[in-house]
Amino acid sequence: MSKVYIIMYHYVRRIRGSRYPGIKGLETEDFVKQLDFLKENDFSFIRAEDLIASYYEGYKLPERAVLLTFDDAYSDHFDTVFPILKERGIQGSFFVPGEILDQRNVLPVNKIHFLLAAEADHHMLKHKLLDILDYFRGQNTDLPADELLLAEFEKPGKYDDKETVFIKKMLQYALPEALRDIILARLFEEFVGVKEEALWDELYLKDYQMRLMKQSGMFIGAHGYHHYHLGEAPVEEMRKDIEKGLNILRDCLDRNSWVMNYPYGSFNEQVEETIRSLGAKLAVTTAVGINDTERNDAFHISRLNTNDFPPKSLRFREYR
Ligand SMILES: [Zn+2]
Repeated sequence: MSKVYIIMYHYVRRIRGSRYPGIKGLETEDFVKQLDFLKENDFSFIRAEDLIASYYEGYKLPERAVLLTFDDAYSDHFDTVFPILKERGIQGSFFVPGEILDQRNVLPVNKIHFLLAAEADHHMLKHKLLDILDYFRGQNTDLPADELLLAEFEKPGKYDDKETVFIKKMLQYALPEALRDIILARLFEEFVGVKEEALWDELYLKDYQMRLMKQSGMFIGAHGYHHYHLGEAPVEEMRKDIEKGLNILRDCLDRNSWVMNYPYGSFNEQVEETIRSLGAKLAVTTAVGINDTERNDAFHISRLNTNDFPPKSLRFREYR
């Protein structure tokens, strides 16, 4: 067999009744149900090393092969996921953005999640964002008019309504980075209202936890340093970000055979070329689908979302 379902997870935690009930993630009990479902339906859990071997050494994957991948190195992955996987003898692949081990900052991607979770009224939040933009427009005439921004970025997404998509896109990449950071800091302070370092502390995996997971047979993969759109970055900056991320993970990955996970699924030919030259063997994307190691490029590996499997849905059946 050459086909493998690769499932993508982010937050896996107790969400209902927690401090951030609006966070988009998987409840712990649903994670357990999902593993039970996979087991009962004869899926075979594989290791990242098996996937590398299937690409490079002709290793035949088992029927209904499944690989579990966890993005962004949340403390959930150590506290919740790791003990459950360890008990069941399943390997998870954990992709760590270097910066979270190196600095006491909350990554912009997570600030955005917590902002959207803390304030449920995204219509109001959108107007707040536009108001702040207006203020900066007085000082910086480079910003396009609201109408143009809305026309380009306010579109419903697969999981989000159009206003949520607009806020995410504006704060992820549509604004110049320096301005984005200022605006995001302001919104974060007003609506989330916790100290950034306190959230950093509770949100992310720590270095010793990552090492322990690695020693216990889990797989650690690269996810850049600052977690941004590598496919949009100047080449030198992109290369530095990837190298910096690798250096921080050096004790936990094999520099001659490592796996990349493109932040936001963003890459281009130069990103591919760069990671290949740095020893990457595979790269996972956010493209949706089942992966076929005979047909899909090793640097364009597609995945399915945890929501595509029970107990959330049976959408995985649409992919063969
Ligand atoms: Zn990520």
